[in-house]
Amino acid sequence: MPEKKKQNKENKSGATTAAKKKKCKKASTEKEVSERQRRILEIKKTLVQQKEQLLQEAGFALNTLPDENAFPDMGDQATAEIDRNFMLRLRGREQRLLKKIELALERIDNGTYGVCDICGCEIGIRRLEVRPVTTMCIECKTEQEEEEKVIES
Ligand SMILES: [Zn+2]
Repeated sequence: MPEKKKQNKENKSGATTAAKKKKCKKASTEKEVSERQRRILEIKKTLVQQKEQLLQEAGFALNTLPDENAFPDMGDQATAEIDRNFMLRLRGREQRLLKKIELALERIDNGTYGVCDICGCEIGIRRLEVRPVTTMCIECKTEQEEEEKVIES
C-alpha cells in the first residue's frame, strides 16, 4: 500500500490530516522518540528470531506428515487423519503469522511500523512488545472486535 505509507509520512511531518475521532498520543520528547525506536529495534530482533523458528518448524512439520498408507488398521488411520489435519491447519496458521511477521519487518525498515492502520495514531510500545505483528492500536482493535461480535451473533 504505497499510498498509505505516503500518508503516514505526511502525518509525521505535521500535516493537518487529523486522525478521525481520536486524538493521537504521540511520543513527544526526543528522549521518548529514541526510546521508542530502541524498543522497536528490540522487537525487530525478536521478530527475526520468530521468523527463523517458524520456518524451521514448518520444515519439520512437512517432513513428519504421516503417510496414510503406513496405517493399515482403520482406527490408526482415523487417528493419522486427525493428526494430519491438525498439522495442516497449524501450518496455515503459521503461514499467516509468517506473513504478518514479514509485513512488520518491512514496516520497521521503512519507518511505518507501530502506526495504527485505522486511525493513524502510534500504537503503544507496550502493546507492540506483547503483540509485535499488530497493525491496530488497542482502541481500534477493541472497536473491531465489538463489531465482529455483533456480526457473529
Ligand atoms: Zn487506531
